[in-house]
Amino acid sequence: MVDIKSLSKNELKEYIKKFGLQSFRADQIYDWMHVKLARSYDEMTNIPGSVKELFGKECIYTSLEIADLQESKLDGTKKFLFALGDGNFVESVFMRYKHGNSVCISSQIGCRMGCRFCASTIDGLERSLTPSEMLDQIYAIQHYMKERISNVVVMGIGEPMDNFDNLLKFIELLTCKDGLNISGRNITVSTCGIVPKMRELAKKKLAITLALSLHAATDEKRRELMPIANSYTIEELMEACEYYHKCTGRRITFEYSLVAGVNDSLKDAELLSELAARVSAHINLIPVNPVKERDYRRGSREAILAFKNKLEKNGINVTIRREMGQDIDGACGQLRRRKLTGDI
Ligand code: SAH
Repeated sequence: MVDIKSLSKNELKEYIKKFGLQSFRADQIYDWMHVKLARSYDEMTNIPGSVKELFGKECIYTSLEIADLQESKLDGTKKFLFALGDGNFVESVFMRYKHGNSVCISSQIGCRMGCRFCASTIDGLERSLTPSEMLDQIYAIQHYMKERISNVVVMGIGEPMDNFDNLLKFIELLTCKDGLNISGRNITVSTCGIVPKMRELAKKKLAITLALSLHAATDEKRRELMPIANSYTIEELMEACEYYHKCTGRRITFEYSLVAGVNDSLKDAELLSELAARVSAHINLIPVNPVKERDYRRGSREAILAFKNKLEKNGINVTIRREMGQDIDGACGQLRRRKLTGDI
């Protein structure tokens, strides 16, 4: 069956031709799906019943149900647990910033990358999400909040580069001028560092920001935290970053989760500065979110600030990730895990 919400406008036009329908029907249906955010054909009031019935038989129309919603009392951050059509769950986060509303979406159900500090990967990968299921997270939140979403970060559950073709299609649909029309500049994709895919993405010359989850400044330490480091060295990652910058003109972000006693020494900060300077990266420090199943802890406020100061002294552009929604399940994949283990 065709997944109708994953078709580009041109593909939809092509597709409806085989039913003898005129091109303007594709315009109308596309608008219902991607601008009016219809959750089913029933809402498409200007489409004849016979056409809706036909599509009902021929196509899948994805839509998400809110299975759980947690709201931070501190900053209005909302964490949504969505039920997918096949009984799986994904989570997405809504955050309100001065510069606009941002949504963090998942790209897969579970993850097979195995990063040691991450809750999303504990049960491995169930399956990848379709472009429509990635869009649906944004659409469902915009629909629920009745507020425009202007920024999207692909930093939820899953490794986007492990779902590469669907990711590209998702970006094409999200930036489509006849859809939500979110600018590439307002989209960030975060990867644990799958080098060949980073290079492939660079060649697409999209205006999006690439964030690299670095988390260590030496291969040895990185291998302790992230199994992917056994496949690609930091040298290969830096070359891929340079290539990305050369192709797109976009600055890379390094994400660095600070884990007490593991990667938060001043020596680590020194080595990290060298890497960041080499590719003019911006660094986003994330004090590690303790995960019940894992034995990693965050350092004291002083240790985190000392690490940041060291980077700043070396002329590196650095921010500590503003910790949104600390009173709700902060770390990636924790809400889905609680659902799976029967906690909610
Ligand atoms: N797979 C992608 C995107 C998902 S994770 C990636 O690896 O980048 C988004 C970010 O949160 C990554 O930098 C990830 O390493 C980090 N992260 C995951 N669990 C965390 C935790 N418990 N504490 C702090 N950061 C965490």
